[in-house]
Order: sequence, then C-alpha cells, then structure tokens
Amino acid sequence: MNVRMRATPLILAVAIAACLSLQARAQMPDAAGGSSATGKAYKFDKIADGVYYATATGTMVTGGNNTVIVNNHDVMLVDAGITPAAARALLEDVKLITDKPVRWVVNTHFHYDHTAGNSVFEPDVEIIAQEYVRHAILDLDVLHREPFKTTQTNLPKQIESLKQQVSDEKGPDKRAALEKQLAAAQGELEQFKELVPTPPTLTYSAKMALFRGQREIQLLFLGRGHTQGDTVVFLPKERIVCTGDLMESRLAYMGDGVFDEWINTLEALKKLDFDTVLPGHGVPFHDKSLITAYQSYLKDLMTQVARLRQQGLTPEETAQKVDLTSHRADFPQIEGPGADLRGVRRMYQWMDEQASQ
Ligand SMILES: [Zn+2]
Repeated sequence: MNVRMRATPLILAVAIAACLSLQARAQMPDAAGGSSATGKAYKFDKIADGVYYATATGTMVTGGNNTVIVNNHDVMLVDAGITPAAARALLEDVKLITDKPVRWVVNTHFHYDHTAGNSVFEPDVEIIAQEYVRHAILDLDVLHREPFKTTQTNLPKQIESLKQQVSDEKGPDKRAALEKQLAAAQGELEQFKELVPTPPTLTYSAKMALFRGQREIQLLFLGRGHTQGDTVVFLPKERIVCTGDLMESRLAYMGDGVFDEWINTLEALKKLDFDTVLPGHGVPFHDKSLITAYQSYLKDLMTQVARLRQQGLTPEETAQKVDLTSHRADFPQIEGPGADLRGVRRMYQWMDEQASQ
C-alpha cells in the first residue's frame, strides 16, 4: 500500500512532480534497449529480456505496479492487483507481450493492493509468498482493518470531490483527465464488492529459488520492514530486484511497519548485487543512494516521534508536528511538516511493544 494521493489535484500534481523528478534520476529507459506495449489497463516497459514493468494506463485503478517475468515456458507475475478486476485486466493485457501461460504469482506482502487479485487465478497457478502473508490474509480480517479501511471510507468522498471538480473545470483537457479519474474511482468502488481475501498457495520462510530454463528467480525474505513478511524478488543474472513496498521510489505506507528492523532489512537489500530496482509503487530506479535516503528518513522519523511521544504528545499531535522537510530533495512528495497518521500510530504501538519487553 502506498500513501494514497488521489484526493485533490494539488496532491496529484505533487505526486506527478515527484515521479518526474525520480524519473530523471532513474535514467529510463533501460540498457536492454527498452520497448513498451500499452494495453487497456496496463502499460508494459521492457527492463531486460523477458522482464517487464507494468504500470496503470489510468483507465482503472490497478494498485501496486507489477513485474512480469517471461520464462521459457511460463510467466511469473509479481503481485496480483488491487481487485479481481485488475488481475483479470492484467491477464488480458499481458497477452500483448507473451502467449505463454501465467503459472506463478508472487505476493510481495499481504496488503490488498498487492493481493486482492489472488482470487481470479486458476488452481494450477501457484501463488507464492512469505509465510506471514498467508497468516495475515487468513487471520487478520484484512477487509476490516488498515490499509483497506481508510481507502474504503475515503473512496465515496473522493468520488464526490471528483464529480465536483469535473463540473467546475472549464479546460477540456483537464476535464477529460478528471473524468477518466472519476470513472476509474467509480469502477474501483464497484470492483471492491468482489473482494474475497485469498491466501497464497505456496509459502516459504527465508528463501526460495525457482529455475525456469535459463531464468533463476530468487524469492528472499530479508527481514521485517514494510510488513512482517515482505518478499524481494531477485533476478541475479539480470541484476534486477523487485522490492514491493519494502522500498518504493517514494515514501511508503507505514501502518504495518516494523521500523528499526525495516532499516536493517534495507541494509540487507543494499548488499544484493543489482543495478535496477522495480518497486511496488513509483518508478524504477538504479541508484542505491535512494535506499540510504529512505533509511535516513525512517531514522529521522523514529527519533522525532520518540521525542514527541516522550513529551506526552498524542499520535495525532505528533503526526502534525514532525518535520521531515529536510528529506524533500529525495522524496518530493513531502510538502511540509507532518507525516501520515497511520504510520505514526503504528510507530507509537511499536514503541509501546518495545517498552513492554
Ligand atoms: Zn503495502
């Protein structure tokens, strides 16, 4: 789950600026002489032979970005989409780049925007994840907890706000863009009715390796971080790593974070031998210094939250008061002081747990 930013055009503009800024850093397209294909809901950018990064075209809400790994005889999808409808659209659009069957799906973590598509896959498709993901989907009542709860609550309000913006907008291009956004949000609300939390069919604890023809695919649990069961998909020959939300190109949702361990897990990530990061949200990037920058953001946030908590401030007050603007050069989505309340609440909870041990 990323920090969702569809509420206002201003926030959207900041998000787009953030992406553009990181795009410059990422030096896309890729060394493999990248090409792309655009389907109805997904656009595929070629990153290496048989490896594509799939992002939304905007016609529907798709959730996290996916990586498509085309092997000699079959295909692996990294993450399953935000709804069953998104997963079906991905299966349809993926035919633009290959006629091989999807045989493997990896859930990088349990958040609904990476797993809610699980229910559409046939029984011969293995859905693989770290073992915590199966526990979380079966036992945590994921449709009545964060991060789904806030999305579900806010979506009708966002739809009303978009309707208002459409009727206020005079410029035809901006109006068309808003109408597209509105249709995608209305579709998402409808598509949420179909959600059936569906656990992975195959789990591992620390490491799993698949050898498919010439392709070696490693699934690695490097430690707790964004959640308690994040998988990194590592292609050692292609020097590519898919990081889910453990490391996005921007600030990640923190409501299930295990914060000090997250920093250590990112240190383990940096030790892998890769050139390209394909994150769960945002844009691909090549520079490990962005990972260091995110570690530094997390450290700074933890220090500030610990101090304000010590002073007796509530999570609500702390979420308004923390000031991470010094990290803005690396994470342009930081508009001013403050941080996501759900992340700060989780940090309080984490510090309580630590203190009681
Ligand atoms: Zn997430």
